[in-house]
Amino acid sequence: MSKVTVVGSGVMGKGIAYAFAISGYKVHVHDINHAILESAKKEIHALLGGSFEKGFLTEEIYQSAKDNLVFEPDLQTAAAGAELVVEAVLERMDVKLEVFKQLDQICPPETVLATNTSTMSPTEIGAQTSRPEKVIAMHFFNPVHKMKLIEVIRGLETSEETVNFIHKTAAKINKKTVEVNEFPGFVTSRMNCLIGNEAMNLLMEGVASAKDIDHAMKLGLNHPMGPLELADLVGLDTRLRNMEYLHAALGEKYRPCPLLVKYVKAGRLGKKSGRGFYEYN
Ligand code: NAD
Repeated sequence: MSKVTVVGSGVMGKGIAYAFAISGYKVHVHDINHAILESAKKEIHALLGGSFEKGFLTEEIYQSAKDNLVFEPDLQTAAAGAELVVEAVLERMDVKLEVFKQLDQICPPETVLATNTSTMSPTEIGAQTSRPEKVIAMHFFNPVHKMKLIEVIRGLETSEETVNFIHKTAAKINKKTVEVNEFPGFVTSRMNCLIGNEAMNLLMEGVASAKDIDHAMKLGLNHPMGPLELADLVGLDTRLRNMEYLHAALGEKYRPCPLLVKYVKAGRLGKKSGRGFYEYN
């Protein structure tokens, strides 16, 4: 059985671990924060249970997925012998570089190291390792169990073999892929961050309420979710980091909305903290 390691068990790591576990992979999940790792275990098990009860998973898949998941506080143990490591730690280049340096030392040379970054350069990350040809961005979408796409971004040195491996792996976990040339924000984050930021500017300027902005985008422009609801789901701290990176890389158009900055300062991080543009129980 192939082993996949997921590093970071926050919003995305949980979903990525779930997707691999229901597809027959042995999944080792790691987080630097033990409390977050414990709650990830509870939440993934609850998601598995809910999917089984609703008939989305057979009993066999539900049981094997639970058996295949290991929650491991030690990175060395979690990553040893993995075929693929997917990094889903917070969107900060310094943190990602440190994680990849460690993974490069722990994992055998054949292990592919993928980052789930929304905006950043797999070339820069790969350059910190002795295997840049095995480093790639594998950008999942939130919530992972519902979203079909993985954006695949090759770094300057990423090999064809690695790109093909990621396409094949994506198919095994029932996802579709698009391939994108490396550029800050790729396709999806570059566009989505701008739409979300403009929605926040509209709210800040008093043009419409959060609810009406989201309704307008859903009912008028056929977006499945409103941009403010979506920002809450992503996490406003994560979205702010995305905007800051894009602002530095691409210029003024991506300056983060001051309201977003203020919300993050106040600890209003969206759904994960219970309050963002909306309130959650
Ligand atoms: P999050 O803040 O929910 O989770 C990040 C986790 O990383 C935390 O649990 C934290 O404890 C852990 N972590 C931090 N440093 C670590 C380290 N050195 N080793 C191990 N774990 C560490 O963030 P998220 O929303 O899950 O985002 C993770 C990545 O996925 C980011 O790069 C983000 O841009 C990207 N992404 C996010 C979304 C989204 O909708 N939230 C969508 C696509 C991609």
